[in-house]
Parts: sequence; C-alpha cells; structure tokens
Amino acid sequence: MLPYQAPIDDMLFLLFEVYQAQQQWQEQGLALSADEAEAVLREAARQQQELFAPLLRQGDQGCVWQQGRVQTPEGFVAAYRQWAEAGWLGLAGEPNYGGAGMPKLLSLFVDEMQHAANSALALYPLLSAGAALLLLHHGSEQQKQLLLPKLYSGQWAGTMCLTEPHAGSDLGLLRSKAEPQAEHYLLSGSKIFITGGEQDLTENIIHLVLARLPDAPPGVKGISLFMVPKVLFDAEGQLQQANGVHCASLEHKMGIKGSSTAVLHFDQAKAWLVGEPHQGLAQMFTMMNYERLTIGLQGLGLAERALQIAKSYAQDRRQGRRPGGVLEPEQPADPLTALPDVRRMLLDVQVMVEGGRALATYCGLWLDRAKSGDALAQGRVALLTPVVKAYLTDQGFQACVTAQQVLGGHGYVSEWGIEQLVRDARIAQIYEGTNGIQALDLLGRKVVANGGQWLKAWLEEARTLCWQGPEGARLAKTLDRIEEATDFVLTTERDQALLINAVAVDFLHLLALGVQGQQWLLIQRRIANRAEEFQHKQLMALYFEQRLLIQDRWLLERILSGHGLITQASL
Ligand SMILES: Cc1cc2nc3c(=O)[nH]c(=O)nc-3n(C[C@H](O)[C@H](O)[C@H](O)COP(=O)(O)OP(=O)(O)OC[C@H]3O[C@@H](n4cnc5c(N)ncnc54)[C@H](O)[C@@H]3O)c2cc1C
Repeated sequence: MLPYQAPIDDMLFLLFEVYQAQQQWQEQGLALSADEAEAVLREAARQQQELFAPLLRQGDQGCVWQQGRVQTPEGFVAAYRQWAEAGWLGLAGEPNYGGAGMPKLLSLFVDEMQHAANSALALYPLLSAGAALLLLHHGSEQQKQLLLPKLYSGQWAGTMCLTEPHAGSDLGLLRSKAEPQAEHYLLSGSKIFITGGEQDLTENIIHLVLARLPDAPPGVKGISLFMVPKVLFDAEGQLQQANGVHCASLEHKMGIKGSSTAVLHFDQAKAWLVGEPHQGLAQMFTMMNYERLTIGLQGLGLAERALQIAKSYAQDRRQGRRPGGVLEPEQPADPLTALPDVRRMLLDVQVMVEGGRALATYCGLWLDRAKSGDALAQGRVALLTPVVKAYLTDQGFQACVTAQQVLGGHGYVSEWGIEQLVRDARIAQIYEGTNGIQALDLLGRKVVANGGQWLKAWLEEARTLCWQGPEGARLAKTLDRIEEATDFVLTTERDQALLINAVAVDFLHLLALGVQGQQWLLIQRRIANRAEEFQHKQLMALYFEQRLLIQDRWLLERILSGHGLITQASL
C-alpha cells in the first residue's frame, strides 16, 4: 500500500497564513512559537507515517475475542505503546495533571494524521483523550489526580459506555442501574458497541458509564455518569482485583476492524459517581464538541489518504487518449490524469480535503476561544460542531468512494487498500450521534430553540467578509439563502417539530456550504497579493464556488418544499 505522507505544508499554510495562529496563541497567553508548533507537527507526522500507517492492512484482520479477553491485531500493542510513551496522548491535556497543554488549533492536525494513518488504531488513544477531558471537567479532585496522569501517559485507557441494545439515539431509554453503597455504587446492566471496551494495549481501562440511580426520574433527566474501572485500584493507583465487568463478545463489522467494538456486561461492578447525580447526559455533552470535531477529522483523514492513493494511481495508469489532443504520443496511452472526467473526480476529492481541513481549523480556533467562557465563542462552537461532524464525515465517505472510482476495478479489489478506506470511513457518519441526529441538534437546539441568535452572529461575520470585495458576491447569495431557510423554519407555526425533523439534514448541508464557502473566501483574501505562489489555492477556491456552492439553490428549494410529502407518502 502507498505509504502515507502527512500534508504538513497545507497544515502550516492554514495555521500561519490563513488563521494567524500565533496571534491567537499570544492573546491566549500560550508560550508556543511557530517553530515549536511546526516541530510538533513534523514529529507527529514522522511517527504516524512510521508507526501507525504501516499497520493499516494488518489492522483489517480484526481483533480476536477469547473467553472475555481481546487480542488486537499484530503490531498494535507495540505501536500504541511507542506512541503513548512519546507523550502524544496528553498533547492537549491539562498541564497540572501531566498533559502538554497544546491548543486544539494544533492538536487537531495530529488527530487528522492518526485517522489518516490508521483510523482503527487511532480510536484507542483518541477515546482515552476524550475520557480524560470528561474527567477534567466533571471529576473530583481526587479522580483527576489519580486518573488523568494515567490516561495522558496511555498507561490506562478510557471508554464511553452509553449505548444499550434498546437505547441508541434515544438515551432516555437506558436501563443500567447503580445502587448506592457506603463509599461507592454497584452498577449493573449491559452496554453494546463499546469502542475499546476490552483490549490488550493497556493494563487497565476506565469505563465512563451512563446509568440510573434508584430515585432517578425517567428519561434523559435521570441519567448519571459513573467511573467503572476494569481492574480496581487503591488510593495510590496500584492495581488490585478485577471488577465486575465482563466482555461478552465483539461485534463483527464492516470497517475499522482493528478497533474492538465490545458487548460489556456490568455485574454489580464497583462504580464511582462523576459529577452531580442525574446530570450525566449534560456532562457528556460538555465534551461532545471536542469529540465531534475529532470524528469529523476521521472523515477528513481517510479522505486525505484515499486522495493520495488515487492521485498516485492516476499518474501511473495509462488508458485511452486525452480528448482534444494526445498528451504523450510516444507512449501507448495517456495517463488517467490527462482525462477530464478523471480529473473531475480527483479535484472533487481534493477540494473536499483542502476545504474540509480549513473548516476543521476554523472550528478548532473557536474551540480554543470558547475555553475562556466567552459567550460568542461558545455559541459559535455549539453551532459549528454538528456541522463539522456531519459534513466532514458525509463528504469524507463520498470522497473515499470517488477516489475508489478513479482506480476502476483496482479500487474494488483489496490490493491498493482503497476499499478498506471506504469501509473504515462509513462508521463516522453513524457513531458519536448519527448525522441525522447531528442535523436535528443543529436545527432544533442550536437554531430554532434560541430564535436563530447564534446563526445570526455567524451570518454577520460571514457577510462582513463578503462585503470586503467583489469576490464575496457569490457567497453573499448563499448567506441570503441560509437566512431564507432559517426564517422559513422559525416562522412556521403549524407542525414545526415535524418540519424540523424532515428538513434538518438539508439545512445542515446548506449551512455547511456557507461555512465552507466562508473559509475559501478567507483563503482567497489572505493570498490575494501572491497569485503566483498560491495559484493552486486560488483555483481550488473557484472550483468550490463554481461547482459545489451552487448546490445551495436546490437545498433551499428542498427545505421550502416542507415536510408534507415526507410525512404523508406511504412507505
Ligand atoms: C463501530 C461502532 C462503535 C461505537 N462506539 C460506541 C462507543 O464507544 N460508545 C457508545 O456508547 N456507543 C458506541 N456506538 C454506538 C453508536 O453511537 C450508535 O450506534 C448510534 O448512536 C446510533 O444508535 P443506534 O445504532 O441504536 O441507531 P438508532 O438510534 O436506532 O437509529 C436508527 C436510525 O434512526 C434515526 N433516528 C433515531 N432517532 C431519531 C429521531 N429522533 N429523529 C430522526 N431520526 C432518528 C437515526 O439517525 C438512524 O438513522 C458505536 C457504534 C458502532 C457501530
């Protein structure tokens, strides 16, 4: 399989030319120079290229379950430990507990690299980083002191245990129960689909589990969060006996086979409350913004990897002749890259990857700004994260399929590895809240519930950018269409809830086009006086505007057609 090359130049371009990271880091009091940031990215790239990427095919062999124990694919343990020992799991972690305190505006690129190199392996460290973030925000001081250093060092791993057989998107249905004891709780219930629920990479696993207390009200308001270790430990963190957690089986699945997806039974397992009783779901949501960006980066990373393979293949493979003028008459045929239809496919993937990376960077920038509690930044992050998660994973999957098409039949067979990327990318549209649920979150909670306030603040920012020059005229039209769609939903009184549910996905894609367009316009502005140096970016911005942004009209028309047909037509 073609070796992975992390796109460092594009990352540095976005950081320092487009989003002026140094200025933001200075304002936030971060002692991080451009040289240091570049060194971090180069070292992460080197390790991902050498450690994770070569194990991609091996990982596709899957994990093996035997009597409750799980063996990850050959090579995973050594690669994980080397990555962990180099301190990468704590890259964005809190320095007071052993983290390196790097901003999301830098660490997001390292997340992308991990997913591009080996998404299945990447999920283990990324899940631990998510668990650490949850504990940092809601754990007791004692829990933080004990657990965060172990999670940041990768010695122990973390999981998120939400899903139950009858409770997926609707977590209000979950039944796992926690009975209070003198100093802890006893937790019982079954969880399914738990990523990293059992593995052989770490000596212990900290499960963060949603369950109900005996006096809990029904529905989502009666859910609490618990810390349940696989192996119990004493006050110094020394391991003791096994807890009542059993891995009953592993799921057999379409992709990310090297990531174990476990069925876990909790049988009176010792558990400790994290945060306040009945606040479990709300607490979970505080870290969702970070997790959603990370899953969006999974779509992006896999698309980048697929693009690298497709480009390399198309440059070497010769079929047919370039219409309108043979390119290489001395050869029996021209390379695929000479054919407009193949170029179209490659450029569709390329514009998604470069634009998607800009979109993720913009989101990372606001995530860092939101840490200070700034209300504008928090609103922006709330609005952006479902968009980034759903758009990057929908587009990322489509990009992998398009890249596969470039290889013809060679993309369908496993030799080039691109069919694995298609299979691996599919899950990102489903987990961490399906993309349908992301769209409902966006339109229902983030737009309609506050009268469109956060959206209006973003529209104002994007319009100001448009008005700075004539090249903003096309995006300004898209912004008008987003406003029209929003007003239509906000002013619909009859059956508004049905309307929201029916048009949310179209609305998310319409808004995504606008936010994506804003990033391309910003890029155009930043390179305005250096046309020759950045000719490629200039053409990509035009490609986006003329070939993708135009979807705004039909998305608006679909939204304005309402929910009638969708709710009435028989199935
Ligand atoms: C490989 C893998 C790894 C996973 N890892 C984890 C993990 O680590 N921890 C964990 O807790 N879970 C995990 N999950 C579970 C995952 O988050 C759920 O599968 C997902 O949230 C959807 O739930 P569900 O599968 O029950 O689908 P359902 O909730 O049954 O949804 C089915 C369909 O109905 C739609 N739908 C549902 N409700 C609504 C609604 N109100 N309005 C409109 N449409 C709706 C959905 O969008 C979807 O298209 C994982 C799943 C997989 C496959």
